[in-house]
Amino acid sequence: PPDVEELGRSTWTLLHSMAATYPEKADTQQQRDMQGFLKLFSRLYPCWVCADDFQAWMAHPSGRNEPRLGSRAEFGWWMCDAHNEVNRKLGKKEFDCRFWEERWRTGWKD
Ligand code: FAD
Repeated sequence: PPDVEELGRSTWTLLHSMAATYPEKADTQQQRDMQGFLKLFSRLYPCWVCADDFQAWMAHPSGRNEPRLGSRAEFGWWMCDAHNEVNRKLGKKEFDCRFWEERWRTGWKD
């Protein structure tokens, strides 16, 4: 079976990179495509316990965790929230989502 940590790091890189290159303003088809991807991803991710929890988080009955796909800014923030949910579950430090774009798109400037 895949190494859950290595798989996780690589997958977050893919997921945040997808958010970083998402359209600034997404049309209906682009939103539908991403919605479909996330739904399948949450069923096929090859760490089954991870996938189950992620699916349950996304499908919270209140609707509060539904993917926000209108724009890159919304989607990037949503992905950061999703990652923080996993960070919390694993007892890791939460990431300050105000820095999401610097981490994953524009790069740190120092
Ligand atoms: P990672 O959490 O992999 O993060 C990589 C880098 O992303 C960090 O170094 C940081 O620079 C940046 N980052 C951190 N938080 C954020 C954020 N909120 N927003 C943006 N950038 C951020 N592991 C389990 O053991 N059990 C699980 O149930 C589980 N569920 C998972 C579900 C999903 C959908 C995914 C993709 C992974 C899951 N993992 C799970 C793996 C876990 O999230 C980590 O990837 C793994 O533990 C390695 O952690 P890490 O400390 O190297 O950093």
